[in-house]
Amino acid sequence: MESLNKEIMLKRVVKETSDIYSFVFEKPKDYIWDAGQHTIFKFKELKIPLAEDEKEHRIFSIASVKEEEDFMFSTRIVENCTNFKKNLLKLVPGDIMLIDKPMGKFLLEDLDKPTLLIAGGIGVTPMRAFLKDIELNNKKVKKIRLLYSDDRNEFAYKEELIGIGEKVKGIEVLLISNRETFINELDKFTSEYLNDAYYYISGSPGMNKMFTEKLIDMGVEKQNIKTDSFQGY
Ligand SMILES: Cc1cc2nc3c(=O)[nH]c(=O)nc-3n(C[C@H](O)[C@H](O)[C@H](O)COP(=O)(O)OP(=O)(O)OC[C@H]3O[C@@H](n4cnc5c(N)ncnc54)[C@H](O)[C@@H]3O)c2cc1C
Repeated sequence: MESLNKEIMLKRVVKETSDIYSFVFEKPKDYIWDAGQHTIFKFKELKIPLAEDEKEHRIFSIASVKEEEDFMFSTRIVENCTNFKKNLLKLVPGDIMLIDKPMGKFLLEDLDKPTLLIAGGIGVTPMRAFLKDIELNNKKVKKIRLLYSDDRNEFAYKEELIGIGEKVKGIEVLLISNRETFINELDKFTSEYLNDAYYYISGSPGMNKMFTEKLIDMGVEKQNIKTDSFQGY
């Protein structure tokens, strides 16, 4: 993959929850991306060899925005993880990763329309970028409600997201660990706005499918639903 040639230098690793880690890099020069985009990451040097059939790169959403000082992605690393993820845990400040150009069309397009952001677990990464973009660029929003679900009640960026919800007019942040509450919140939003709103869903392909079907059952038209599918989970 020839275009994986932009170097980024690690500054620090932040443990967000029991298994979500944020990798914070120096912001690469001359690298411009939009909130919600992702790119491809590769190690400059591996500390543990990859498994024989393992890909040498992974896609991660860029969780930070270009107005921030740092460049960041966050990922789930479970005990029984791939060697790629084991290499991530071996990274120390000063280490280099390589990235490709930014890509993806999971972008907030119309801030004048009410928008429901539905994030499952690690699917919150592009949502963080959306909210930081609005906060740091003082963008005017009609209504953006983030429903961030995690069954284990562990939320990455918790204080930061709650802070944005309190500070920025038009943004509401709900961190939810109970599935019934989550469905009730979906019901509440669709009853109020139905097709006068956009719906953004981000998480594992299974979760995206489940919520897309649920919204369609509730009467939301497919054209109002956008998904960012974290293939690989
Ligand atoms: C557009 C897009 C955006 C994405 N954004 C993000 C993001 O922001 N953050 C993020 O974390 N991911 C994101 N992903 C997904 C990411 O690219 C990886 O696919 C994902 O993190 C899984 O990584 P992994 O393959 O190293 O597996 P792991 O995370 O290590 O493992 C995934 C699962 O497979 C199991 N497993 C691992 N190895 C084995 C094995 N050898 N045998 C059997 N089971 C095994 C693990 O126990 C675990 O349950 C995104 C994907 C796309 C397409």
